[in-house]
Amino acid sequence: MNEESITEMVIKCPACSIEGVAKSIMKEIEIPHFGKVMETTIQCPSCGFKHSDIIALEQNDPAKYVLEINKNTLSTRVVRSQSATVIIPEIGVKVEPGPKSEGYVTNVEGVLIRFESAVKKALNLFDDEKSQKNAQDTFDSIQELKNGNTTATLIILDPFGQSNIVSDKVEILEIPEDELHDLKTGFSMIEDN
Ligand SMILES: [Zn+2]
Repeated sequence: MNEESITEMVIKCPACSIEGVAKSIMKEIEIPHFGKVMETTIQCPSCGFKHSDIIALEQNDPAKYVLEINKNTLSTRVVRSQSATVIIPEIGVKVEPGPKSEGYVTNVEGVLIRFESAVKKALNLFDDEKSQKNAQDTFDSIQELKNGNTTATLIILDPFGQSNIVSDKVEILEIPEDELHDLKTGFSMIEDN
């Protein structure tokens, strides 16, 4: 398999179980200063199921990646594996891996945009004033970060060390045993009936 190799397969859809329509595309991507990752996308035209994931091709130790978000780091490359928790403590946002979580390659701004759309959804769901206001405040804080007006800390906790923030400004730390214990891994099984 060379660096740009793409493998396409037709598989049984893990969601609707229809044979021979869902497409699985595996793409090997070389990320500078990080290494090779495998991007897998499954798409089913029959039921609309879509899932993508990023797996680093090397097994690593649990790691905590810490980067200051400021106007100079908005374009910094971020690799978030399916099993990673993403936190911005200053504005109180956190995404933990769940059965539907996806691995992705983006940049710091892209991470903010993901949080932004999650908060936007929450804004529409909340009907009490207090929650509305909290969500609005969070939304505003994300805007400020996106515009490079403020700073905050981006933390990615990955029990398998397969995420990364590709920058010489990133701090890569070990995850303390007790914190590691609390991490959700996002591993899930899709039952094949
Ligand atoms: Zn399907």
